[in-house]
Amino acid sequence: MVVSTLDSERIDRSGLHTSTPRDPAVAVRGLGKSYGAVDAVRDIDLDIPPGAFVSILGPSGSGKTTVLRSVAGLERPTRGRIDLSGRTVFDAEAGIDESIAARNVGVIFQNYALWPHKTVLQHVLYPLGRGAGKLPRSVREPRARETLAAVGLEALGDRYPYELSGGQQQRVAVARAIAARPPLLLMDEPLSNLDAQLRDRLRRELRAVHDAAGATSLYVTHDQEEAFALSDHVILMHDGQIVQQGPPVEVFRRPESVFAATFFGFENLFSAAEFDTVAEHSPFRPAATVAFRARAVHLRAAPDTPAAGRIGLGRWTVQAEEFTGDEVYLQVTRGLLSLAVAVPVTTVRVLDRLTDLIPGHQVDLDVDLEDLVDLGPDGPEIREQIGQQDQNTVAPKGIGDNPS
Ligand code: ADP
Ligand code: MG
Repeated sequence: MVVSTLDSERIDRSGLHTSTPRDPAVAVRGLGKSYGAVDAVRDIDLDIPPGAFVSILGPSGSGKTTVLRSVAGLERPTRGRIDLSGRTVFDAEAGIDESIAARNVGVIFQNYALWPHKTVLQHVLYPLGRGAGKLPRSVREPRARETLAAVGLEALGDRYPYELSGGQQQRVAVARAIAARPPLLLMDEPLSNLDAQLRDRLRRELRAVHDAAGATSLYVTHDQEEAFALSDHVILMHDGQIVQQGPPVEVFRRPESVFAATFFGFENLFSAAEFDTVAEHSPFRPAATVAFRARAVHLRAAPDTPAAGRIGLGRWTVQAEEFTGDEVYLQVTRGLLSLAVAVPVTTVRVLDRLTDLIPGHQVDLDVDLEDLVDLGPDGPEIREQIGQQDQNTVAPKGIGDNPS
């Protein structure tokens, strides 16, 4: 399969700088891009170690593509600096702006960006005849065929894009991106146009390509499952800025803002003061905004005290109940507060009680202390977020309401 060429990249073409293995594969400082008065992205700092698979995750319009295209050399940032393996390829102040060919990156786009008039083999030959990936003529075709074999397209070299399925087209885009063995792969939603089954398979293949190539990958997606499954490190963007980053499990379990908690599907957001038990618990100040998932809430097993590691949320009234297969999903209320609860049906003891979980009935609830996340003090942000929530969702009514 594909072999690393990282070693050959350690000598800068200018001869002035020899990078060390410690240099990040990508280092971005103070990157900004404005369109007129609008900042598409701002204050972006990134450090991606060699060999890492890093995803930029965020909703549509958050600036993911702008960052990726800036690193690739397809977008000219307004501010900042970009170093690839210790070599400055862009510096707004110094006026450095290397072309995409000189940066030696492999790029895979959402729409594959294939050329209708080129065959599969010609697509893969293309990066081998130019720029930093240029090879002597005699070895180009063997390399191209070897790359096609690596993505399972060896038999289709003479076909044109219109003669290929979506998955095959995607593989051509992958083969073209990796043929020159670039040390850095940049991917912008490369799986978004595929059906779910194919997407899962190609996702695993992309990670295998990354591992086999010993490459560094920067991957843009709006799909959290994709980002978590593929990456060593996830960068969350919102409104043109990086708002949080870390290993997938950490980011998923410990959102640091109302935006992140909402993005990662925390159904319940409250002011800690709404619950005596939560507010009393030392890590949470009464002013804190506390988030927890529906799955972190449990029907109380014993009548009087919560189980170890849980704290009581008190008695609630079931408003709505929905059986979804794995879980019974409850909407419960107490006064103006509303809470989402997911009860797993695999628990036999719970199964016995399912008939109780009907609207109008009362339930005593606990929450796993470990699954409570402190999002910081109440502030304009939570009011804004909650104002945007649909009344029918698990909007924690009453939080952030102005008392006047
Ligand atoms: P994402 O990839 O996360 O969906 P983008 O990087 O494409 O986000 O866009 C970030 C922001 O920059 C958006 O608000 C978008 O409308 C704006 N933007 C992107 N390209 C242009 C452009 N050529 N002209 C003006 N605004 C743009
Ligand atoms: Mg985009």
